[in-house]
Amino acid sequence: MVSQAQILQWLQAFATEIEQNKAYLTELDAAIGDADHGINMDRGFKKVSAQLPTLTDKDISSIFKAVSMTLISSIGGASGPLYGTWFLRASTAVVGKQELTEQDVLAILQAGLDGVAQRGKAQLGDKTMVDVLSPAVAACGQAVEESQGTLEAMQKAVAAAQRGLQETIPMQAKKGRASYLGERSIGHQDPGGTSAYLMLKSLLGVLESSGE
Ligand code: ADP
Ligand code: MG
Repeated sequence: MVSQAQILQWLQAFATEIEQNKAYLTELDAAIGDADHGINMDRGFKKVSAQLPTLTDKDISSIFKAVSMTLISSIGGASGPLYGTWFLRASTAVVGKQELTEQDVLAILQAGLDGVAQRGKAQLGDKTMVDVLSPAVAACGQAVEESQGTLEAMQKAVAAAQRGLQETIPMQAKKGRASYLGERSIGHQDPGGTSAYLMLKSLLGVLESSGE
């Protein structure tokens, strides 16, 4: 089970992870985009971090919805609407819940991925965050099917996300700004995929630190 308090811890941990990786994410985006991904994400998640104390009495779905609205209104660029959509869909997957089973965690990851893929019209292999989120959902799904529990399912999800992230390097971008570079986008790790990996990794970190 993942508690509402752990969800709040996760969002804070992700905001901290983004802050610590702001320069790195921006550097990745400088190679194949417009050098603002770390700046965009940090702006949005600083707002989220400031908002968290107002969400302590809310259920998990309402927390995700509030985060979504904050991200959509404060992050410019492609990643604002995409992360906003991820959290909005996550919110609709767990309506009214105060704690999450591993099936709920899978439902969140699946709904978030579906939302991002739909909104960005991105498919696997387009060199976007979909290439990280999609293998994570598949690995989590398999672990849940084998009744492995939330911690194990997230460990599998993060390992798959990390492999997916490495696989973005040789890809040619088909969506977003990086696609304007054509073949010159090959050989660089996708910035949005990197932040998506950090999102999953920070959730795992919270589960590991509480011995879930
Ligand atoms: P912008 O490209 O507007 O400057 P960011 O730099 O914040 O926005 O985010 C870029 C990231 O967004 C990319 O690395 C990629 O992962 C993701 N992205 C861009 N376009 C799409 C899309 N159509 N579908 C899914 N993800 C996308
Ligand atoms: Mg950019």
